[in-house]
Amino acid sequence: MRVVVFGAGYAGLTLTQQLESSLPDSVELLLVDETETHLVRHELHRVIRRPDVIDAIEVPLGSVLDRARVVTGRVDEIDPQTGLATFQEGHAPGIASEDGTLSYDYGAVCLGSETAFYDLPGVCEHAIPLKRKAHALSIRDRFLDLCEAVEQGETGRVVIGGGGLSGIQIAGELAALAGERGLSVGPVDEPDATDEPLVEIVLLEQLETLAPGFGSAFQRAIRSALVDHGVDVRTETPVREATADTVETDAGTLESDLFVWAGGIRGPDATAGERPTVRSDLRLSESTFVVGDAGRIVDADGRSVPATASAAIRASETAAENLTRLVEHDLEGSAEFEPSLERYRYSVPGWAVSVGDEAVAVVGGQVLTGQPARKLKAAIGGGYLASTRATRQAIQLVQSELGLPGFPGQ
Ligand SMILES: Cc1cc2nc3c(=O)[nH]c(=O)nc-3n(C[C@H](O)[C@H](O)[C@H](O)COP(=O)(O)OP(=O)(O)OC[C@H]3O[C@@H](n4cnc5c(N)ncnc54)[C@H](O)[C@@H]3O)c2cc1C
Repeated sequence: MRVVVFGAGYAGLTLTQQLESSLPDSVELLLVDETETHLVRHELHRVIRRPDVIDAIEVPLGSVLDRARVVTGRVDEIDPQTGLATFQEGHAPGIASEDGTLSYDYGAVCLGSETAFYDLPGVCEHAIPLKRKAHALSIRDRFLDLCEAVEQGETGRVVIGGGGLSGIQIAGELAALAGERGLSVGPVDEPDATDEPLVEIVLLEQLETLAPGFGSAFQRAIRSALVDHGVDVRTETPVREATADTVETDAGTLESDLFVWAGGIRGPDATAGERPTVRSDLRLSESTFVVGDAGRIVDADGRSVPATASAAIRASETAAENLTRLVEHDLEGSAEFEPSLERYRYSVPGWAVSVGDEAVAVVGGQVLTGQPARKLKAAIGGGYLASTRATRQAIQLVQSELGLPGFPGQ
């Protein structure tokens, strides 16, 4: 019997590690990803300011797995009805059959999400998203060019579309990077009395608040931290279109030297851009489960689960339990009905986001800022990495987050 996990992000890696210990040894277990590493994506914005952080947030898959076989290749399509995955031509040699397909008895789609541009004219062409390391480095390069221009007396404005967790943390990172270059952050149209060189960072969110879906005290604390960093936060301001040097919003046109898009997600290419809806047992078909950003999960209480790393990790525990029950049932050859399946109930103890070197956290309804929030944020990232057995990366991430000596660049 063969079980295949597609995607080695938070959902896929956690699920595979659990299946390594829960599935009988006779079951072949494969983990498929287009890269050979697990990326701690929720820290990707850090790479904009500190490229060395990539060393702490990329984990070679082979170093944290025991018996699962890692298959490197890009999946083109997954058919959950037939239990068949198709690879891009030439990918997954030795595993995919000659026609590029791989069949499975049970599988889990954990392929994450891609950036959604919602067909807004010019946005895909002119904005940089933040999903991969290359995006972070490209945002960094463009921002440093902008800083140089400002140092030579020109104006410089960055527009970030989307005020969710990703847009918030990108804005914080750029503001901190400007500060490290000795530049102030503020509105370029209203230079202050000192005529300091200014970088303007505008964060646009179409809804009424930043961090939509989170508690109002957390939202207010994030906004206040961003404003303290000089970021111009504009809510109820949807982006309509973009050109090479402008961003069109409902409130008017903004000239823009750099446009970063964090406005939403869509399903992976391998599911035709869709995020299929699954109920709390996470089962999409007889053979296939969906976990993490790749699906829209409705939990045991009928709540829609947010697309976050914390939800992906926790839901994968339910998926591991359910897959194991089904595999054991099949191996027993039992004529009995299928076993009942666990139902995932969404619950996270709290949240923490960075705003440059500051952080804002909420735990048990209480909002934290300053050192407690910063330490909590470092502990969450480090704790997660340690739980995947990536001990070196866990230590490096905590050192980097807390600015401790030992990490390159500190
Ligand atoms: C800048 C930023 C900040 C964020 N901050 C937070 C935060 O503070 N807290 C939080 O909870 N969440 C945060 N998130 C969201 C979080 O990163 C995602 O919700 C999380 O990554 C989803 O996990 P996943 O396992 O579903 O997908 P991913 O982690 O995206 O993993 C998907 C995997 O599938 C692989 N893959 C994709 N397509 C293919 C294919 N066709 N073939 C083979 N392999 C493929 C990818 O290589 C990847 O390894 C942030 C995201 C960003 C970008």
